[in-house]
Amino acid sequence: MVLTELGSSLANALAKINRAPKIDDKILQILIADIERALLGADVSTKLVEKLKGNIREKLRLSELPAGVDVKRVIEKVECAQYKVAIQTKKQKGITVIKEITSLLDSERVAYVPRRGKSNVIMFVGLQGSGKTTTCTKLGYYYRVRGWKVGLVCCDTFRAGAFDQLEQNAIKAKIHFYGDRVETDPVKIALEGVKRFKEKKFEIIIVDTSGRHKQEESLFEEMEMIAHAVKPDDTILVVDSTNGQQLEAQAEAFRKRVDVASVIVTKLDGHAKGGGALSAVAATKAPIVFIGVGEHFNELQKFDTQRFVNRILGRGDIATIVEDMKEQKLDDQKELLEKMKKGIFTLRMMRDQFQNILKMGSFGSMMQMIPGLNNLPKESEEASQQRLQNFLVIMDSMTAEELDGDISLIETNPARQRRICRGAGVHINFIRELVMVYKPFAGFAKNMKKMPFGKNGEMPKN
Ligand code: GDP
Repeated sequence: MVLTELGSSLANALAKINRAPKIDDKILQILIADIERALLGADVSTKLVEKLKGNIREKLRLSELPAGVDVKRVIEKVECAQYKVAIQTKKQKGITVIKEITSLLDSERVAYVPRRGKSNVIMFVGLQGSGKTTTCTKLGYYYRVRGWKVGLVCCDTFRAGAFDQLEQNAIKAKIHFYGDRVETDPVKIALEGVKRFKEKKFEIIIVDTSGRHKQEESLFEEMEMIAHAVKPDDTILVVDSTNGQQLEAQAEAFRKRVDVASVIVTKLDGHAKGGGALSAVAATKAPIVFIGVGEHFNELQKFDTQRFVNRILGRGDIATIVEDMKEQKLDDQKELLEKMKKGIFTLRMMRDQFQNILKMGSFGSMMQMIPGLNNLPKESEEASQQRLQNFLVIMDSMTAEELDGDISLIETNPARQRRICRGAGVHINFIRELVMVYKPFAGFAKNMKKMPFGKNGEMPKN
């Protein structure tokens, strides 16, 4: 993802702070200039970047920080208890650089969350070519693999081939489908499809509407009529990230006519305008709920601003990986979570998780979430799968003591490393990479011990 380039420029800017012997105003100016360059390079609007710079300057007054506060942590960390205390006494709002960058992408409105046991009707709108039809199937697939009963309704009577495209996608993704080749009135099709799926107690009913080349009046009228007829619980606007900053105007145009509750930004897997697209949509205050990162059905990622910023900064996103696995009810997840909550994470547990990732597919996007691996250039699915398989053969040639014991057993013993790699038939570098990947997971488990979990055991946000 090109956004990782933005992430690495930001991470480099922050690393300068860590290397600096003393933090003074000059260093802070350099940091701000670096951040400005990185954001503008990712097409974030000048207006927003100026605002962000102003916020950082105004709120981060080094001279006013109380003595003893770790300035590096204040600048970088999202949460800094020490600084919070300092802030409270000064009656200032909390500020950190990462928090400001995160707020660039944050929206105010809360997205609709489908409820189990109810028919949740989700209407999709967007321009032709935005990726709307593909995203309908991706979202359907997302819910299906999480155990929801999903139905797709095709009421795009405008584009030749829309019916066949959605039907074929639905078959591939094993999702129920309703369409009508003969009927020309999209409102009738929408009503009939939603009625049928509701009668059969489908929980997620996705309605794909027509997309047109541009924002035509007839498109908006049709969209309004369908919305009026099916009364969706959620209306999702699909936008193509290659449109960059222009998306703010596009999203506003749709929001004037239908109640766009949330947005999915597609094609974030390979161009320079990702930052512009995300910040432009966030500026409209409609929450981004998912992002599309490829053409496959499983290349749809839930969007959580803070976790996303962590990920592009190369800090990985273990919370999402664990949550994804939990939601997909993969084997042994309960046991895994219970152990992690106690701060335990062994190589054996990591091996089991990697086997699960292999079962889930979508290695490329998973790799993007693993700390230590997410700085690598985006690999092909095959290359990612191969990397994971190398890790698995390495762990398979370890003894039980190595799999269940402390990582130092391997890390500090080159002879052991050589023996394992000989057994696995891989270069010694792979075991170093494996240790590098393991450590953040183990660290995450240690932190989990201290985390407040939700009533139903859901993950707190990192
Ligand atoms: P629609 O006209 O809005 O329904 O658009 P389609 O769903 O037909 O998608 C248009 C093109 O964009 C197709 O070639 C899709 O495979 C492609 N596409 C959709 N989402 C993504 C994505 O997240 N990444 C990439 N690379 N391509 C996508």
